[in-house]
Amino acid sequence: MYLPKRFIDLAARLGGLPGIGPKAADRLVFYLLDQSEEDVQELADALVAARKEIRFCRQCGNFTQDDLCEVCQDVSRETQLLCVVEEIRDLAAIERTGAYHGLYYVLHGRIDPIARVGPAELQLNLLTERVVAGHIREVIIATNPNFNGDITAMYIAKLLMPMGVRVTRIATGIPKGSDLEFADMFTLTQALEKRTDVET
Ligand SMILES: [Zn+2]
Repeated sequence: MYLPKRFIDLAARLGGLPGIGPKAADRLVFYLLDQSEEDVQELADALVAARKEIRFCRQCGNFTQDDLCEVCQDVSRETQLLCVVEEIRDLAAIERTGAYHGLYYVLHGRIDPIARVGPAELQLNLLTERVVAGHIREVIIATNPNFNGDITAMYIAKLLMPMGVRVTRIATGIPKGSDLEFADMFTLTQALEKRTDVET
């Protein structure tokens, strides 16, 4: 072993991060050791501060440093339009299109029979409460176009439709079985614009 323990420990931690393999982790450690102590301290402080100060928005489940996130605080948004997504990264993908001006509800999951995640685990009562309290007129279901995303969408539609709210599902321009997160901006914009009413 020609590298010190600290090096190996740090490389192992970085290598455990998503998208970073052992080689990339080594490169990052070499890079960090080439920086000033102050710069590395600032990076470490930024990591800790982000973890400490970022939490979930009380209303939609997006990340925020405050009680409500930037989207929920934005007065120019269409407040009666609610888009339901599985994860914050899906919200981020939709925001990147710039084509959507309503609000969101992040499920932080999806119904997944194999992983034994059912409606109860998703706390869907919070979604129905939000629809009532927010006087929502349309809910756009933007769960992923795969098996779990589809059954989640169907369950939510059946839950909300008796409440008199319009329920739509994003169009299937996104290839079946893929993730919203990886759809290109044009495809995602089209999927939102060509959404259709859910029929149960
Ligand atoms: Zn929010």
